[in-house]
Amino acid sequence: MGGTAVGERVVAAVRTGAGSTEIREFDEPEIPDDAALLKVEVAGICGTDVKMYEAPQITDPVIMGHENIGVIARAGPRFAERRRVSEGDRVFVEHYVPCFACEWCHLGEYRHCAATDWRTNPAALRYGYTSAARPPHLWGGFAQYMYLPWNAVVHKVPDGVSAELAGLVTPMSNGIEWALFDCGVGYDSTVLIQGPGQQGLSQTVACKQAGASLIIVTGTTRDAARLEVAKRLGAHHTIDVQREDALERVRSITGGAGVDVVLDCTAGAGTAPILLGVEALKRRGGTLLVQGEVSRFPDFPLARLTEKAITIKSARGHSYRACELALAQLASGRYPLELLTTHTFGLAEADRAIRAVGGQGEDDVIHVSLLPWQDGG
Ligand SMILES: [Zn+2]
Ligand SMILES: [Zn+2]
Repeated sequence: MGGTAVGERVVAAVRTGAGSTEIREFDEPEIPDDAALLKVEVAGICGTDVKMYEAPQITDPVIMGHENIGVIARAGPRFAERRRVSEGDRVFVEHYVPCFACEWCHLGEYRHCAATDWRTNPAALRYGYTSAARPPHLWGGFAQYMYLPWNAVVHKVPDGVSAELAGLVTPMSNGIEWALFDCGVGYDSTVLIQGPGQQGLSQTVACKQAGASLIIVTGTTRDAARLEVAKRLGAHHTIDVQREDALERVRSITGGAGVDVVLDCTAGAGTAPILLGVEALKRRGGTLLVQGEVSRFPDFPLARLTEKAITIKSARGHSYRACELALAQLASGRYPLELLTTHTFGLAEADRAIRAVGGQGEDDVIHVSLLPWQDGG
């Protein structure tokens, strides 16, 4: 069987430079026997998009969108057989396009596979991070269709989970990966989550489901609505770090003991969350999850870290298993996760959508979805 194409044009929002987007059209690709075509329903936007949009580290034009849900529009017979999907199935596509041959891939840890590591490998493939000049061009979710080669990783979305809710699978899977697998949150754990954005709120749900007995979530004064959502999702206490002494509050809530785990889910907060985290952790053996936002850290309290025997873990994507558990969590209806899906935009509004995630132009943003087939904008 040869490839098929219906000769349609595919509309995409293409990042053409720092802070600029253009709507462009591409030919619908030929689909070989071992590949598929995804009709994109939802491309979730996260803080990484904000950074990559302001200061792209890939200079070629790129179709952004790395948190993608859609329906299999066309599946080559070998793709359908190997990946056990049929045309019409709703799937979550991981942004990693891995080699499927290395040790990391065999562990389901595609996030570490060199074939998808765009920072170190110029030939890497990753949705939302790959040049649109590279055939067949459709390497991102800010487009009506996305190309799925033989090595795309797909997860079937359970029945009853809407595309928009499924758009939360990436933050939810990060929540499971970082809090539970990396930092060992479980039965009776005490946790401080800094930042009530989509990531912090997803960590809240993961910790709650895993059995944490104390969850404290911090935010700023303008996060008031998001801190309310944190409470509805199971946080025991919230702290406005601008109005309260956060360390004092954590100490008083824990009777001076501090917490087992601190998860940094802030954006643009500088070194303060790490400094608070080191102090808020228990006397010995706590775990601190860090993001890579601060590239320089003068006067890092290394002595304090070692005195307290703190373990540092890096926030770095998700595994196959975390995605499956995230989808199960979304399907369970155990938490009102629809509270997180606050904003949707059409393809022509991609620029506005990214800026909304960055805190510009919209209020009370938690999770923003780009819907490539939505009219308007
Ligand atoms: Zn993301
Ligand atoms: Zn690999």
